[in-house]
Amino acid sequence: MKIKLLPVVFLFSTFIFSQKNENHIYFGDIHNHCNLTYAHGDMRDAFEAAKQQLDFLSLTPHAMWPGMPGKDDSRLAWVIDYHSQAFARLRKEGWSKYVVMTKEYNEDGKFVTFIGYEIHSMVYGDHVALNYSLDAPLVEATSVPDLMEKLKNTKAFVTPHHMGYLEGYRGYNWRSFNPSMTPFVEIYSRHGLAEDDLGDFPNLHTMGPRNFEGTMVSGLNKGFKFGVIGSTDQHAGYPGSYCVWVHCSVEIQINHYISSI
Ligand SMILES: [Zn+2]
Repeated sequence: MKIKLLPVVFLFSTFIFSQKNENHIYFGDIHNHCNLTYAHGDMRDAFEAAKQQLDFLSLTPHAMWPGMPGKDDSRLAWVIDYHSQAFARLRKEGWSKYVVMTKEYNEDGKFVTFIGYEIHSMVYGDHVALNYSLDAPLVEATSVPDLMEKLKNTKAFVTPHHMGYLEGYRGYNWRSFNPSMTPFVEIYSRHGLAEDDLGDFPNLHTMGPRNFEGTMVSGLNKGFKFGVIGSTDQHAGYPGSYCVWVHCSVEIQINHYISSI
């Protein structure tokens, strides 16, 4: 089945796609957090809130940070502990609860849920892995490209977000763009807009200055083809807490990926 996003419309997170000349609009949020790791809000409350207003959802536990900086800086010890302890909690008991609840709330045709998780990276930028299978495991990886390599034979997306930060400081690195694993990129969230370095920047959270090189327009200038999405990156257990529409002229064929929605 061929599905087109045309124009790719976005939003927090909305897909519009044409199928047999009919337009279908679905609302969802595939990047957001609860207290499963180091965000806030009960996981079940998050699913219940999402079910009230969304068609599809992936709650997204923070899962790993290969190459986490600061190991030789005692001032950053608490930061490392904060992240490391959350990752350990996820593996000890959180992941299994997460998978069970994601399956529990999945209701074909009404409220579709996905297994996802987030990987931080100073070098490549933060990414979210979104899996089609509700039995998808938490794949351990030493880097973002390593994660893509390990997921390449599965139905999964690996999507960069908050792309407009500085490269090397968790902004996006277009040299690592892999179109087979990354049919779309996240250009809007609580980190603001990464369309380019000049647009609105109503971010609810900031990790530093904005830089053009990682942005959407920079990728288009390099000749890459991709779609764009918005997610909330909500950290309070309330997926789909806001919605923005953006229109652009990117065309993408995502074939079998979205056919399951
Ligand atoms: Zn996130």
